[in-house]
Amino acid sequence: MNEHDKIRELLALAVANALTSAEEKQVAEHVRSCIACSNELEAWRPIASELRRLPTPQPSAWLVQATLARTEVKLTEQAEHDWNRRVMIVLVAFAWLLTIASWPVFHFVSERFWNLLEPQFGHTQLSHTWISFAAFNALGWLAGGVAAVMLAVRRRGERRPA
Ligand SMILES: [Zn+2]
Repeated sequence: MNEHDKIRELLALAVANALTSAEEKQVAEHVRSCIACSNELEAWRPIASELRRLPTPQPSAWLVQATLARTEVKLTEQAEHDWNRRVMIVLVAFAWLLTIASWPVFHFVSERFWNLLEPQFGHTQLSHTWISFAAFNALGWLAGGVAAVMLAVRRRGERRPA
């Protein structure tokens, strides 16, 4: 950082009388030879005196605007977060319902399937059924997860102004 940049950062503090005497001297010396900093310092002066005239420290309009903008972003993010969570809950509930509802059907179908495939292992049917059922459901959950991500991405894209 060169001296000019360093001084520029001190200018606002200088008009607020918030510098050490060494810094004050540094600023005064630089301003004598630098028109840009001198102008900036003059621009700060009325602002500083205005601020001093205020009975209590008050947030500037700029700060209020910045805070409002930030709050709005936060609220939008929050809304999106809530929406994503709702979708997740619905998907999870749906997946569970599907799991519970499909088990009898799956068991029935799978029993016949494994009987056809290897009738000699009749006693392992149930574990076979469970494994295929687990695989079947894992696929279902995976599809649900992909759907949730795709929905979230699409929603994000829709919200963004073109
Ligand atoms: Zn300068």
